[in-house]
Amino acid sequence: TIGMIALDAQGNLSGACTTSGMAFKMHGRVGDSPIIGAGLFVDNEVGAATATGHGEEVIRTVGTYLVVELMRQGKTPQQACKEAVERIVTITKRRNKNLNDIQVGFIALNKKGEYGSYCIQDGFNFAVYDKKGNRLEKPEFAVK
Ligand code: ASP
Repeated sequence: TIGMIALDAQGNLSGACTTSGMAFKMHGRVGDSPIIGAGLFVDNEVGAATATGHGEEVIRTVGTYLVVELMRQGKTPQQACKEAVERIVTITKRRNKNLNDIQVGFIALNKKGEYGSYCIQDGFNFAVYDKKGNRLEKPEFAVK
């Protein structure tokens, strides 16, 4: 999945995502990316978030909607991504699934231009473009 979230010079948020889905997916599978609130959610009053990784886990938690709602409650984008990942970790353990088999990552951005990212496992990078220029950053992750 490639997910993009942006804040323009007028202070408006936007987002988009695109995916080829999971390898060897079942015919007809719908992942998280085309579902608003799962793979992508933007609320121009609050913030924007997008997800990558195992879409089933993101759909189960309505992941990007959760991230944006956590920002609405005052969490930073980083705190919101972390809490959404921790929710997936908790649910995965409750379902007796192996956490090592699951990867999900979120990126989030708020109206102030603050951003954050958090994943279950190491392995993702995300690109940032702002006044400081263009760079790649590594998200924090839950499973060490
Ligand atoms: N999230 C996508 C899906 O589940 C897959 C991906 O991120 O590569 O369809």
